[in-house]
Amino acid sequence: MVANTVTKAYYYFLHFMVGNARSQDPSGIQEESIRHAISKSQLIPSHRIEILAHEDSCDPADHGAASLRLASIRDRFTAESIPEDRVMSRLHQRECRLCTELSGKSVRLVEIFLWPAIDNLSPEKPGPRYLDYDEYSALCSMRTALLFTRQSLRPNPSPIDGEERMAYLLDHFASIGIDWQRVVGHASVADWARAGGFHWLWDDEARGAQVR
Ligand SMILES: [Zn+2]
Repeated sequence: MVANTVTKAYYYFLHFMVGNARSQDPSGIQEESIRHAISKSQLIPSHRIEILAHEDSCDPADHGAASLRLASIRDRFTAESIPEDRVMSRLHQRECRLCTELSGKSVRLVEIFLWPAIDNLSPEKPGPRYLDYDEYSALCSMRTALLFTRQSLRPNPSPIDGEERMAYLLDHFASIGIDWQRVVGHASVADWARAGGFHWLWDDEARGAQVR
C-alpha cells in the first residue's frame, strides 16, 4: 500500500499590468487562482512552493516590475500563515526559458509551482535536500515516457512512440542540465529503466528505506 503522499502538482500563471504588480485580469479568475494556490499550500503542508516572477525586458516601463510582483504574491502567502521558509521566491534570469518561448507576447507574469517534497536520491553529493520543480518535472516526464515505452512493447502497441518521446526528453533535459543521480538515484535514465524505473513517490517496489 502506497503511503499517504499527495503526488499531484499545481501550476498557476498570473498576468500583470505594465510596470507594477497590479493584476491584468479584471474578471477575478486570477484572484481565484491565487486563493486556490494558497489553499492548496495550506491543505498539503509537505508540498514545496515556488514563486517565479518575470518582467518584459524589451519594455523599459516594465523594468524592475518582477521584484514588485514577486513581493506582492509572496506577501499573500505569508499573510495566510504559510511559513516564509516554505516559499521559495525567484526572479527570472537572463535568457529566461519562458520569456524566450513567449517571445513577442506579454511576459509580465508570475508563475506559482506546488509540488511534492521529493528527497534528492544522491545525498552524498552537495546540493539541496529536495528536488526542485524542473527536477520533479523531469522525473514525471521520464516516468510517463517509460510507461509508454513498456506499452509499445506489448502486442497492441500504443499509438504514442515511447522510445521517440524518451529520446526527445533526454535531449531536452540534457540541455537544462538535469542531474539524474539526484532525481532517480542512478547515473543515467537507462540505468534506472533497467532497474525497473521505479520511484517511491508512486511505486511500492521503490519504497523501503525511502518511506518517511
Ligand atoms: Zn522570464
